Amino acid sequence: MRNLMLKDKKLERLAIMGGTFDPIHYGHLVTAEAVRHQFQINKVLFVPTGHPPHKPFFDVSHTEHRYLMTVLATVTNPYFDVSRIEIDRKGITYTIDTIQHLKKIYGSNTELYFITGADAIHEILTWKDPEEVLRLCTFIAATRPEYHKKDLLKKIEQLRQQYGSKIDFLEVPSLAISSSDIRKRVQENRPIKYLLPEPVENYIFKFGLYQ
Ligand code: ATP
Ligand code: MG
Repeated sequence: MRNLMLKDKKLERLAIMGGTFDPIHYGHLVTAEAVRHQFQINKVLFVPTGHPPHKPFFDVSHTEHRYLMTVLATVTNPYFDVSRIEIDRKGITYTIDTIQHLKKIYGSNTELYFITGADAIHEILTWKDPEEVLRLCTFIAATRPEYHKKDLLKKIEQLRQQYGSKIDFLEVPSLAISSSDIRKRVQENRPIKYLLPEPVENYIFKFGLYQ
């Protein structure tokens, strides 16, 4: 009984990997796996955005395409899972709503982490309720090519001092891959092979995305 109680109280660590994933690529996957290992995360939950506030409707592929590509890309990793939480929400989706929702579902024994690339850390203060977002999650800022480590560390220190936020930093093997570059490559008939998992590549061509 005592052991069971202890087990129940065990702190679970859940990391949220939010993104447009249009399409998902190896930059996202390598980053998520590095964070999972480094911070002993029990589960990485990929959360494709519904309608992101900062991107116009016509610029983003249909939510179901982005959701299915994320499922295809993560299916081989037992620690990865995909959530429809933002996709199924009507209207503009905000990260704060997602975090509060997940907090409710998983309860107080689960510690929430939020994985972001260097670029997203720089934008965090433009999100809705940044203080609350920073209070509820430990942020893991991953290095991304073209974003200088020095600038990133400066930003992290500023957020720590201003908001007392918990932000960790992680250096991941540099992958100069971005969804926008992949979309551009498809449009220009240039190869996207080896930039993203093959099932996602096949999916893109099957449905004629980014043409
Ligand atoms: P886009 O070019 O359309 O903005 P993206 O490649 O930046 O797409 P997003 O879906 O916007 O992909 O990113 C989701 C999250 O993954 C963000 O926090 C972003 O910083 C991070 N990320 C994306 N690509 C990489 C990469 N190559 N290395 C590390 N982090 C990345
Ligand atoms: Mg981006």
